[in-house]
Amino acid sequence: MADENKSNHTEEVEHVKCLIIGSGPAGYTAAIYAARADMSPVMYQGLQPGGQLTITNDVENYPGYPDGINGPEMMIDFQKQAERFGTDVRFGMVTKVDFTGPVHKVWVDDKKEITADSVIISTGASAKWLGLESEQRLNGFGVSACAVCDGFFYKGQDVAIVGAGDTAAEEATYLSKLCNKVFMLVRRDEFRASNIMQQRVLEAPNIEVMYNTEAKEVLGDKAVEGVRVFNNQSGEEQTLDITGFFVAIGHKPNTDIFKGWLDMDEVGYLKVQAGTSKTKIPGVFASGDAADKVYRQAVTAAGTGCMAALDAERYLTEIGKH
Ligand code: NDP
Repeated sequence: MADENKSNHTEEVEHVKCLIIGSGPAGYTAAIYAARADMSPVMYQGLQPGGQLTITNDVENYPGYPDGINGPEMMIDFQKQAERFGTDVRFGMVTKVDFTGPVHKVWVDDKKEITADSVIISTGASAKWLGLESEQRLNGFGVSACAVCDGFFYKGQDVAIVGAGDTAAEEATYLSKLCNKVFMLVRRDEFRASNIMQQRVLEAPNIEVMYNTEAKEVLGDKAVEGVRVFNNQSGEEQTLDITGFFVAIGHKPNTDIFKGWLDMDEVGYLKVQAGTSKTKIPGVFASGDAADKVYRQAVTAAGTGCMAALDAERYLTEIGKH
């Protein structure tokens, strides 16, 4: 009986040559290269198939699309291209890894165990929150980290957005086209966003930029009814009457499951050997935003995804598995 259980358990473990974790531009590009190199890649898409680009609107800076392209459509194209060459794309979230041995162990949805000769990490990054209790309580009830996903619900209404980077500028501009008024809460006396994005914000007649201003509490019981803000120079407080509260203050890399196995910086960005996608564990490669705190662009993610597949192919050849 014990032997039977043991053999059943062994049968459940699937072995793959190249496992790709995550499905943004990095993961799909790695998949295209790995599939075309006959590495039979298996991809687990994670909680947000397609990654961050599925919650963005027009992508105007990805080469090859002279008129721009909508983010979700672009990711469908990436997926189709990866599948055309045989990538096995699956729903599922990698919840645990064990990189002790030469064969890497990975668990999907806390259940399915996979062993892999090579692993390409392309888990990307997720939106950051302010950390206010009221922000979490009203999340999904007027609080959002994605203007493109949720802006439509606030058509003709007054909203606020926190942040001063390119994302906040892009989302504020997007909201200004739908909403009656957009309050933009900037914690310093200047933007971080690039000049062109900043200019679009400043030219929008219905965006009011409030410098040196921070949110103290999102007001409302079951839905957002306002936000209490304060000026961090004068200490002066005021309430803005709004029905939508958007947070656009950056992202955190999705690398928690690799803690203790791979080197990362204090924020969680994975460290790779300069000029490569190699982590400190042979056969484990990192690509995309999970390992890039500087550029964080779709095109750079795609580039490092390509590097990861090429590095993985060389590794598999070296260890005689390809
Ligand atoms: P960034 O890290 O560039 O900016 C985050 C912004 O949020 C900063 O202005 C920061 O303020 C502010 N912030 C952070 N924490 C808080 C807080 N607790 N309270 C209030 N404000 C806070 O992130 P983005 O997401 O904007 O951009 C990430 C990368 O993606 C960048 O490289 C950007 O250029 C790129 N990008 C490019 C786009 C494009 O070209 N189309 C579109 C979107 C993003 P502070 O400035 O004071 O630190």
